Amino acid sequence: MAFDFISARLQEKHAAGYLRRRSCIEYEKDGIICVDGEHYLNFASNDYLGMRHHEGVLQSWVEGLAQFGGGSGASPLVTGYTQAHAALEGYIESHLQREAVLLFNSGFAANQAICQALLKDDTRVLADKYMHASFLDGALASQAPLRRFGHNDLTHLKSLLAKGTGDCLVASEGVFSMDGDQAPVSELVALCQGNDAWLMLDDAHGFGVLGESGLGTAEHYGLSQQALPVLMGTFGKAVGTAGAFVAGSQALIDYLINEARHYIYSTAMPASQAVATLYSLTAIAAGDERQKLFDNIALFRQLVGQSGLTLGASESAIQPLLTEGPNQALALSKALRTRGIWVPAIRYPTVPKGTDRLRITLSATHSEQDIRVLVDALQLAWGTL
Ligand SMILES: *Cc1c(COP(=O)(O)O)cnc(C)c1O
Repeated sequence: MAFDFISARLQEKHAAGYLRRRSCIEYEKDGIICVDGEHYLNFASNDYLGMRHHEGVLQSWVEGLAQFGGGSGASPLVTGYTQAHAALEGYIESHLQREAVLLFNSGFAANQAICQALLKDDTRVLADKYMHASFLDGALASQAPLRRFGHNDLTHLKSLLAKGTGDCLVASEGVFSMDGDQAPVSELVALCQGNDAWLMLDDAHGFGVLGESGLGTAEHYGLSQQALPVLMGTFGKAVGTAGAFVAGSQALIDYLINEARHYIYSTAMPASQAVATLYSLTAIAAGDERQKLFDNIALFRQLVGQSGLTLGASESAIQPLLTEGPNQALALSKALRTRGIWVPAIRYPTVPKGTDRLRITLSATHSEQDIRVLVDALQLAWGTL
């Protein structure tokens, strides 16, 4: 039989507890999701600020549709690039003091584009061990030899930096997607500058949340374009829309426009999406959603501390609870579900083997009561293991 490996692979995954299935959300209202006719408090979304349902964001999206139509109709180099895209780029440029910004359809595409366009066979790429799959896959597909340094391990990075010469890209994340901890940004900047390497940050989980006006890790630490030559951020998480951007020098962006195949050969994001994304960024800057999120994080950590469960060091909306193996993670997730709470089990290969976990994500939309219910349920579920 042709392609025998398909069923063999599925069986192997099932036997090991690693088979993945989707859950179909039937509808969603006020932070409650409905799956298979049952209702759950949602502690799984990356919509940390509730911007997906923000009235102004939705209204601006509709206005964008009326002005620019549904899809963008073409790639950005043909007729897919509009004033709406330019305005969104301009907002990020001026507020982060970058020479130029380029929009992508997804963070996955942006990371792949960076790798495809920048990594040559003599480029060194040093990536944190916990970098997102979209970057690691891009780097592996490039001609450049990929080296990974231990998670947030500056000593390891230093020794790798000392070993070679030539163009070097050091890649890390502002806030790590599965652990919720932050990169030691100032130390990374100093190391890169001292070794003539370029630092790149994937800020998928910091953008929208951190910084004076919510523009992420770069704003929070006041990182100039020189300190951080390549910044990637996404709109599908805290910003509540979809898409991504790369920010850097005019030369870098001009180069990507000419060389990045994910940009050149892909239909541009709808202009309406750019309108809504820009609205969301201005609403985040002016609103109190971030304060509400930080209050919820503090309350959650305080209650968990009192409960005797142990959490990681994360101070972000992402709060992992490590389990002993994938089946325990699944059992905990299921036990929470019977109590009306939706928290996914995150297993290998999304996280390293032996670090299977529950990934709890908090949001500004959760009430104090929601958080208390979650912690009570966690304690009860843990007791049934
Ligand atoms: C989600 C995510 C991406 C991919 O972004 P999409 O816009 O969802 O494609 C990239 N990097 C990290 C760290 C992420 O968490």
